[in-house]
Amino acid sequence: MIIVINGIHANLRFSAAHMIPLHESCGVIHGHSYIVDAQFEGERSGKHGFVVDFKKAKGIIKDICSKLDHKVLIPCENDVIEFKNKDENSIEFNIDSKEYKLPLEDCCFLPLKSTSAEDLAEYFIEETYKYLELTDNNISSIQICVNEGIGQGACIEKDI
Ligand SMILES: [Zn+2]
Repeated sequence: MIIVINGIHANLRFSAAHMIPLHESCGVIHGHSYIVDAQFEGERSGKHGFVVDFKKAKGIIKDICSKLDHKVLIPCENDVIEFKNKDENSIEFNIDSKEYKLPLEDCCFLPLKSTSAEDLAEYFIEETYKYLELTDNNISSIQICVNEGIGQGACIEKDI
């Protein structure tokens, strides 16, 4: 059976700023109101016959959304971003000839090469898996879609 969680209706959303370094139009800092959809496939089991507990699954994804919400998303493994000084309050970095200095509290640093919808989908699925693994063994696959607003998103599936 497949459990479907629709991010708009289940309120799995976050707003964040990002940039895609050296991309013609997406290279400038801009924002999206992201929506995260999820599906969990597996056998029903346990006392309640659940595939996955909706509340638990939503809670995990909501926590990831909260971490990214109202932040500038910075991909730490990007080849083009040249990180400079970092003190307790701010970080400086260059992208080509552009110089940035941002307050640390405004940033969310992610272990990714990019903050494209594709990379964010990979991040969400790995984080979701990490927290699900301990609490639920009945799931055979997870699907996550990270939408940059309504109507365009990146979906990824992970077999467990
Ligand atoms: Zn964008």
